Amino acid sequence: MEPYLCPNCKTNRSRFNIIEQRAKSVKINPKSGEVEVEYTDDNLDVFHTPYNGPAKKIQCGSCGLIENEQSFVAYANHNRLS
Ligand SMILES: [Zn+2]
Repeated sequence: MEPYLCPNCKTNRSRFNIIEQRAKSVKINPKSGEVEVEYTDDNLDVFHTPYNGPAKKIQCGSCGLIENEQSFVAYANHNRLS
């Protein structure tokens, strides 16, 4: 972990919700919406782009802002505690 500071409320450095994003890759029936296949890393078909978004998002436990982790880290780096 690195220090965080919320870029929105600019005061919260200690209370955060860490949202771990674990994608589930599926193939659904276009008509019914039923899941027909749940893919794993091993059987993902060649036409299916694997999830490439961030592994986690961070929510400020004070104002509720949800952003990528880097936003909180960068703001903390620019406003270090003395
Ligand atoms: Zn905040």
